[in-house]
Amino acid sequence: MFDCAIVGTGAAGVSAALTLKSLNKNFVWLGDENLSGKICRAEKIRNYPGLNNVDGEGMRTAFLQQIRDMSIAITPARINGIYQMGDYFSLLSDKTEYDAKTVILAIGVEAVKPAEGELEFVGRGVSYCATCDGFLYKGKTIAVVCTAKQFEHEIEYLASLAGKVYLVPLYKGVQVNAKNVEIVSGLLTKINGTMRVQSVTIGDRQLEVDGVFMLKSAVVPSVLVAGLNTKDGHVVVERDMSTNLKGLFAAGDCTGRPYQYAKAVGEGNVAAHSVVEFLGQS
Ligand SMILES: Cc1cc2nc3c(=O)[nH]c(=O)nc-3n(C[C@H](O)[C@H](O)[C@H](O)COP(=O)(O)OP(=O)(O)OC[C@H]3O[C@@H](n4cnc5c(N)ncnc54)[C@H](O)[C@@H]3O)c2cc1C
Repeated sequence: MFDCAIVGTGAAGVSAALTLKSLNKNFVWLGDENLSGKICRAEKIRNYPGLNNVDGEGMRTAFLQQIRDMSIAITPARINGIYQMGDYFSLLSDKTEYDAKTVILAIGVEAVKPAEGELEFVGRGVSYCATCDGFLYKGKTIAVVCTAKQFEHEIEYLASLAGKVYLVPLYKGVQVNAKNVEIVSGLLTKINGTMRVQSVTIGDRQLEVDGVFMLKSAVVPSVLVAGLNTKDGHVVVERDMSTNLKGLFAAGDCTGRPYQYAKAVGEGNVAAHSVVEFLGQS
């Protein structure tokens, strides 16, 4: 049982981890050892105190150095579900369950908007986790929307189970080794059905499918955490970064605009302090 689980390795997660470490808390930090794809994308950052005219890659290098110097470890994992279990939280990845008394959600925002019908059919044909739900589609026809190369092993896993896979890649240089995968160009704009998913609309094509897998680096917060209050896709937070779920805090882009490093770092810091205060009271 950890004092806290930080989910996400962007600027907000980095700040929360540095603060919890300096306050001597026992936490697990779940995400990507390379931090966040977004951190390194900025051409020039002019408004981040202390790092003059740095670019995104320079900022990532500085963050990684600081994490190493503080002996903070990142546990590589994508979390597929977070559940409140009374006075603690259970966080599920493809392979492992992590239990923590508190959670800091620092998952950023996904640039790709949910398709029409996506949220409506979650659990009724729409899934975000290949290893959790892939077995349900043995021999069946599925569509897979994939936003990044890093998820290609999940596509191959799904192809090993399904009869037919329509792959909608949102990145270049697809390398998937499976004969039953058909690459479909265009955007998946709509998921159709009545009780369950029956078809998808991709460009001007309507394809009959039994299920849809959305392989994205960030999942809509209300899908990731059951019962979490959100507004316009962002987590609703108080000034101390607490959410409607006791013990669950959020920080960074996932709490809303402006999407900025300095805001993410500030909120990560506040969330970590609020976690410490919460643990002291419980
Ligand atoms: C091209 C570009 C240029 C930018 N330029 C600037 C700039 O000049 N100045 C500025 O201030 N801001 C800039 N930004 C914005 C800045 O990058 C973001 O505000 C900042 O990265 C937000 O940090 P974050 O930690 O909230 O989210 P992110 O950096 O998005 O990090 C979220 C992390 O959570 C991980 N994650 C998500 N879901 C899960 C899950 N279920 N399980 C595990 N991990 C998960 C993601 O993989 C990622 O590592 C720019 C953004 C872009 C895209």
